[in-house]
Amino acid sequence: MRLITLSPQFLKLDILPGENPAAANHHHVVSDINNADGIWFLCPKCYMDGGMTGKGVHSIICWTPKVSTEVNPKPGRWNLVGTNFRDISLVAGSSSILLNGGCNAHFWIRDGEIIF
Ligand SMILES: [Zn+2]
Repeated sequence: MRLITLSPQFLKLDILPGENPAAANHHHVVSDINNADGIWFLCPKCYMDGGMTGKGVHSIICWTPKVSTEVNPKPGRWNLVGTNFRDISLVAGSSSILLNGGCNAHFWIRDGEIIF
């Protein structure tokens, strides 16, 4: 499955004046991966389980190491490697994305591809 089918968006974390960066909980969409603090997309496991309509499927946010480890969701942090949604890889120690609880999805994103 391609990441692009999961309605991905790049996110920038908003830290308000005087706000503790660890307490930041607002973000907005940016178009350029180089300005992104993270990436938002629909859960690939639930997307497939739900007949690939996207209806009612929860979303996932993966932040980069630029974002405080106190900011949710935690504790994972990934480097966004690539130029766009079609060639992006999420790279970290193990690089895999594991949801603890809920649907327990476990996958990788490599060269724009979701790998279970
Ligand atoms: Zn899910």
